Amino acid sequence: MRLSQMLLVTLRDDPADAEIPSHKLLIRAGYIRRIGAGIYAYLPLMWRVLQKVSQIVREEMNATGAQECLLPQLQPADLWKESGRWDTYTKAEGIMFAFTDRREQQVALGPTHEEVITYVARDMIRSYRQLPLHLYQLQSKFRDEIRPRFGLMRGREFIMKDGYSFHADSESLKKTYDDMYVAYSNMLRRCGLKFRAVEADSGAIGGSGSTEFMVLAEAGEDEVLYTEDGKYAANVEKAVSLPVDAETSPFTSYEKRETPGTETIEKLCKFLKCSPTSVVKNVLYEVIYDNGTTVLVLINIRGDQEVNEVKLQNELTRLASQYGAQTILALTVPNAESQSNWTAKSLPLGYIAPDLSDEYIDAKKQVNPKFLRLVDKTAVDLKNFVTGANESGYHVLGANWGEQFKLPENVVDIRKARPGDRAVHDPKQTIQNARGIEAGHIFQLGTKYSQAMGATYTNEQGEEKPLVMGCYGVGVSRLAQAAVEQSYDKDGIIWPVAIAPYHAIVTVPNVNDTKQVEAAEKLYGELNKAGIETLLDDRNERAGVKFKDADLLGIPYRIVTGKALANGKVEVVKRASKKACELAIEEVVDTLKQWVEEELKG
Ligand code: ATP
Ligand code: MG
Repeated sequence: MRLSQMLLVTLRDDPADAEIPSHKLLIRAGYIRRIGAGIYAYLPLMWRVLQKVSQIVREEMNATGAQECLLPQLQPADLWKESGRWDTYTKAEGIMFAFTDRREQQVALGPTHEEVITYVARDMIRSYRQLPLHLYQLQSKFRDEIRPRFGLMRGREFIMKDGYSFHADSESLKKTYDDMYVAYSNMLRRCGLKFRAVEADSGAIGGSGSTEFMVLAEAGEDEVLYTEDGKYAANVEKAVSLPVDAETSPFTSYEKRETPGTETIEKLCKFLKCSPTSVVKNVLYEVIYDNGTTVLVLINIRGDQEVNEVKLQNELTRLASQYGAQTILALTVPNAESQSNWTAKSLPLGYIAPDLSDEYIDAKKQVNPKFLRLVDKTAVDLKNFVTGANESGYHVLGANWGEQFKLPENVVDIRKARPGDRAVHDPKQTIQNARGIEAGHIFQLGTKYSQAMGATYTNEQGEEKPLVMGCYGVGVSRLAQAAVEQSYDKDGIIWPVAIAPYHAIVTVPNVNDTKQVEAAEKLYGELNKAGIETLLDDRNERAGVKFKDADLLGIPYRIVTGKALANGKVEVVKRASKKACELAIEEVVDTLKQWVEEELKG
């Protein structure tokens, strides 16, 4: 491709609305343009990158025996009602673009395709002989994200590879899941990325085990916790660890004490000169279930610990059936306004005790009359602890479960693991943290969707069984931008060769010099013929402008037909190292071929 004929508009300055380096660079280098919130045009250079990533993804998927297909983006609401996810996706998370068509039918734009594929499987899979089966597709997904940001990282329309596998049993699923683990690791490695596979929460998709593939970068939205020995890595949403030991409480006898102005743990511990590990903190949450019931949740947790809201949400989802509900519509810390909807009298905020009376709840039709009391494991073994006295300005000291307070029946793990904790698998290992960009996520779904939608097969014994399912997603467009986030310098992008839009760029410093133009044209033709994807910068621009643009675009190799021509040579510069050398013109094609092949081998 000749730059003179290309839609190439580079910007000298950072765009105002871009926050992270990869987003700024992709806009400045003319790879993408913003069309609306979370909506981008992939311009020709970006499209080549996306196609290269897609090709690597395809090769790795095909190598496992998965087959490519294409499912509709327009999805009837009925399928989502069958699976029970219509309300979650349109109301609770509200992430699905849903509307009513001219036939008065509800439809949605696909954020994911479990429902559609399960419908296909129900229709077409009859027997164990058809199993296992794995179908995948590459396509634009639509999600009405609350905070679309960082360019392609969190778009409202983005490209995903999603695959779904069907099995007769969980052993067969496990095998495909393991194959996907390898395939995903291969994809990321081949794309030139540094990554970590981590245990993950399964979220609204449901099911049992899942692994996320995190591209390591400071700008990542996710926090990864891991140990140096390489034996443990998990998303903080899912991570477990051993908290530091609690200090022995200095308060050996029970008393109520005036503690004015101590509504935070920090102030309280300063006032009482005690460790936060001697305190039982009592935290209120408000959950609204899908049947409209509001339940007030009172959590007891050790004073130095925080609630992990993902774990809490999972716990509350498990308890939903107790309230005649299936899923959660909202989970919040009640603010003054929402408190006014259910409190019978004003709460002793900052001084709440584990035995806060249910009389604080003004029981109405939609509000459960009793607190749901949960105690985190970290609070269970505390002795002689400090906690609120249910009276503003007062705490109790030297309290014990089974004496002054009844230990709640629901003992749960809802604490947030954090760096500095000890690892469960080996307490000598300390938990470390890093930031990551989630590029892929693989799930063992089990029978959640097949059961809900009645997708069954007949086994060898002639019995009808629900299909066992797995699902596997890679964010193709997110991954492409993550590569930039991991690899750039002050002058621009440094693409890994495997996903660079072009391998090389031939730069003609002076287009009025016929010798330079002739040499460049010849190399340009030969390189492309040899399979080195090459650009020709034949624009009538100053050499400095051309060099700057080549660096900004991030093309791995630059060939300059300048002064060295007098000796039958050209200058060749590697983008990553900025190292320059002179090569005899007739050696250029072979040398570059070798360099590119070397890089593609990974
Ligand atoms: P996140 O936690 O970042 O919202 P997710 O858990 O919703 O991701 P999945 O539903 O597992 O993501 O989708 C599979 C992959 O699609 C993700 O691993 C990610 O790479 C990509 N992806 C998800 N949401 C977006 C988005 N809004 N923009 C770009 N890529 C996305
Ligand atoms: Mg999401």
